[in-house]
Amino acid sequence: MSTQLAKYSKGLNSLPPYLFVRIDQLKQEERAKGADLIDLSIGDPDIPTPNHIVEAMSKAIRDSATHRYPSSNGRLDFRQAAANWCKGRFGIDLDVKEEVISLIGSKEGIGHTPFAFIDPGDVVLVPSPGYPVYQAATILAGGIPYPMPLLRENNFLPLFEDIPQDILNKAKLMFLNYPNNPTGATSTFEFFGQVVDFATKHNIIVCHDMAYSEMYYDSNAPHSFLEVPGAMDIGMEFFSLSKTYQMTGWRIGFAAGNRDLIAGLLKIKGNLDSGAFEAVQMAGVTALSSSQDCTKKMRGVYQERRDILVNGLTQAGWDVYKSQATFYVWIATPAGYTSEEMSTRLLRELSIVATPGNGFGDYGEGYIRMALTVDTKRMQEAIDRILRW
Ligand SMILES: *Cc1c(COP(=O)(O)O)cnc(C)c1O
Repeated sequence: MSTQLAKYSKGLNSLPPYLFVRIDQLKQEERAKGADLIDLSIGDPDIPTPNHIVEAMSKAIRDSATHRYPSSNGRLDFRQAAANWCKGRFGIDLDVKEEVISLIGSKEGIGHTPFAFIDPGDVVLVPSPGYPVYQAATILAGGIPYPMPLLRENNFLPLFEDIPQDILNKAKLMFLNYPNNPTGATSTFEFFGQVVDFATKHNIIVCHDMAYSEMYYDSNAPHSFLEVPGAMDIGMEFFSLSKTYQMTGWRIGFAAGNRDLIAGLLKIKGNLDSGAFEAVQMAGVTALSSSQDCTKKMRGVYQERRDILVNGLTQAGWDVYKSQATFYVWIATPAGYTSEEMSTRLLRELSIVATPGNGFGDYGEGYIRMALTVDTKRMQEAIDRILRW
């Protein structure tokens, strides 16, 4: 194909370079040399999907009714299961018909959202460091991302009073994400109250990404943004079965919240996708409505790994933020090292793969992220290598 023909759109061309490419290349080089890599860069559960969910899927897929096009908003039984789950977990009441829709993974819903609400020139407030999809989808929809710094001295919560007035005038939408990827920080009910006040005052749509709602530690179950009075008037929340039930490959999640916002997202979906596979939605019903013991077990697995990693790194003299949730640990690089330099040294000298923090935005510079997606034996081996370094 001629390069003239494959000329990308302005939006695609202006996406920031994919910063993990370099680490991926180094990883391949080291692997080719026969290095015994401990890969702590992967945000994907190493534990299989619980068996009762796999069984539900294998039953559902044998029913040929599931083989046809699904609807964009999702099966009613899936939406009902999602609403019941939200009621049981957070005590929130959702109108199943208008306030809940299924998603083909929450990334799909997050990625489509700016196309429903953003006109060229509108500003979208995005956390930095943050999940790269908020920024990419904003740019592709013609919007302008404005990074809200998540600083450690503020418990990785943004400070709204620091946002300039001219930005506020153009701000149409805000993404937030607690429990937070990549920092492992959680929010508080009080902070969500501030979000509602701020967003209501400035007419800003709030999109809260709650992919890690069940992956928390020390029995501190996070609140839903929708629990806060007023949140249903201005916001929607994205839930995912991916991390909760180790179902990343299945592509299933749901959005809940304000009916007009949900309707806007659904209108985009209706035009661009045809919904989640019905058999997967039926397995999702089983996941959401069966005993939640599997999530408790999952938390136990990751908490043990978190403790090994955080305690080990602290013993080695590293400056580590003790994650309250998610399967990530956010680590300050030693003075003088950039994120890239630190992750390159770890890979070259210790065969440990960590993600450079600047890949999550400018305010991730000076940090690296390690994922808890290897077993305790490998985690201990990583610590031993670091202690011997
Ligand atoms: C993993 C992740 C998601 C989403 O995933 P889906 O598999 O698309 O549901 C969403 N947000 C954050 C911050 C994540 O880390």
